[in-house]
Amino acid sequence: MDLIYRSTRNQKETATASQAILKGLADQGGLFVPDMIPRLDRSFDELSRMSYQQVAYEVMKLFLTDFTEEELKYCIDSAYDTKFDTSSIVELIPRDGAYILELFHGATIAFKDMALSILPYLLTTSARKNQVKNEIVILTATSGDTGKAALAGFADVPGTKIIVFYPKHGVSPIQEKQMITQRGENTYVIGIEGNFDDAQTGVKKMFSDPDLADQMDQAGFQFSSANSINIGRLVPQIVYYVYSYVSLLGRGDILPEEKINIVVPTGNFGNILAAYYAKCMGLPVDKLICASNENKVLFDFFGTGSYDRNRPFILTSSPSMDILISSNLERLIYQIAGRDSEKNKELMDHLTREGSYQITDDMREKLSDFYGNYASEEDTAKAIREMYQTCGYVLDTHTAVAVSVYKKYKEETGDDKVTVIASTASPYKFTRSVMNAIDPSYNDKTDFELVDELCRISGVKIPQAIEDIRSAPVLHHTVCETEDMCREVKKILGL
Ligand SMILES: *Cc1c(COP(=O)(O)O)cnc(C)c1O
Repeated sequence: MDLIYRSTRNQKETATASQAILKGLADQGGLFVPDMIPRLDRSFDELSRMSYQQVAYEVMKLFLTDFTEEELKYCIDSAYDTKFDTSSIVELIPRDGAYILELFHGATIAFKDMALSILPYLLTTSARKNQVKNEIVILTATSGDTGKAALAGFADVPGTKIIVFYPKHGVSPIQEKQMITQRGENTYVIGIEGNFDDAQTGVKKMFSDPDLADQMDQAGFQFSSANSINIGRLVPQIVYYVYSYVSLLGRGDILPEEKINIVVPTGNFGNILAAYYAKCMGLPVDKLICASNENKVLFDFFGTGSYDRNRPFILTSSPSMDILISSNLERLIYQIAGRDSEKNKELMDHLTREGSYQITDDMREKLSDFYGNYASEEDTAKAIREMYQTCGYVLDTHTAVAVSVYKKYKEETGDDKVTVIASTASPYKFTRSVMNAIDPSYNDKTDFELVDELCRISGVKIPQAIEDIRSAPVLHHTVCETEDMCREVKKILGL
């Protein structure tokens, strides 16, 4: 029996895994969720003797039930290969009383590679399985890292085009350079005069426009999404939490069935939702610690049960988390509303209309797995400086938010369970903010002088992703107003 995926906004809209991946977003703006979260069917002991790729298969086969073993293994082996600079794909290293789970060893040095290196294979396999004839247009909004990872994943993949919208004034210099130097005949990168929420809202609007869908179909195109609203992004992210747990077990750092905490620097709520799904699958996880930057909507939500985006959008040193509408929270809301799509839709409509919603006390009780807190800009810089001074280890700004929040959690609760902190980017991607946190006198140097200095003080080799953009020519120049996003897409597709 295939696992059924259902829209969070309409009980009646269902899909198989491959159909949900192809479609990206359900109708009426809903998200696809599996009808139930499957339980792991291998023992932790067995899993602890497997490679990353083998664990990936054991986890993903439970969700992508309409893929054959051969198809899924082909996707996994094509994605998790030498594009990663470590054979274990991720690294789990003890630093300052916690384990740092380095998820940035892929081609674009952010954790987005974990899912976006496999998504093109999942998507093209899904297209084949469903006899899709149209060319697939991947429409993506990015706060900085998804864009480059998706471009790298889809560049020159036959049967696809990829269009990325990013906030022109809201990403780091290295992030922008990575995107606008992207090669590939089928790649399009556009800066918008707006923030990430504007980009994401514009993209979601195009997805839900039936007239546009018709025009596209007639011209031989259909949309799909590389954002974490696509279930094909979420499922591969569950893997590294399972892999981390069984690695700790294999090393003898935890006892069988011992519970761990997981800390995740959070923006769109995709990564932490994957950790929650891992817990629902039976992984012994206690607290899921949700770390926000100064855009602390989620901290307020966990504290009060009220989600309220009516506040200034703050540009921080952790731009990939500068988000006020965390799309994937909808999947959690749907679950704690008892999988009631009507109730969920009411709340989401309220969010669209008023910019806020309030959950019931019953629903709040079901959030006890989560703890939320946030780090100010000053807290974040302090976490980077202190980690460097005590261990000689350099954190990126997003991971530093998580480290700072974990310290607050420990002080508040005294909970000293073994803890894994998701490290979502290499410090090389946010060199200026990182180096300034360590020593403000670095401020007069150029971006690439700072790269060389970071290499000197950390002893970490400069990643290929950075070497590649040192002298790469800029290939994408388009900038547009938020309201012109659809026009730009039509122009690209010749509609
Ligand atoms: C995308 C991103 C995040 C936020 O992850 P979500 O899944 O959107 O919550 C955190 N850190 C970095 C470096 C990212 O690129």
